[in-house]
Amino acid sequence: MPNKSPNQSRPHTGRAIWRGVRHLCPACGKGRLFSSCLKPVSQCAVCGEDYAHIQAEDGPSWLTILLLGPVLVPLTLFVTFSGLSIALVLSVAVVSMIGGVLLALPRVKGGFIGALWALGIRSGDR
Ligand SMILES: [Zn+2]
Repeated sequence: MPNKSPNQSRPHTGRAIWRGVRHLCPACGKGRLFSSCLKPVSQCAVCGEDYAHIQAEDGPSWLTILLLGPVLVPLTLFVTFSGLSIALVLSVAVVSMIGGVLLALPRVKGGFIGALWALGIRSGDR
């Protein structure tokens, strides 16, 4: 049963983002933000905050690329020009890219939703 208080103060934007990165509700910091890997809940089970109107869309994907690119491109170039066998180069490249995305994307999406919530940006707002 949600126990949302009308006098509940909104957390600072940085705190809301950090809560989202940890997959917690940006409003209360206690409820879960995702019902599965990348699917956000429509409403917090603890405080009742409504997240159905927040659509992250392609933002987290682009931000993940921007964050991982400066790390993965030099790593890929280094491994490519290191003279190692192509099988080892492809293995390192594939594992590092897929692993990096699997680690970063859910956290980036949570932080992105936290930022959208804290800044009051709703779906359809332009
Ligand atoms: Zn909550």
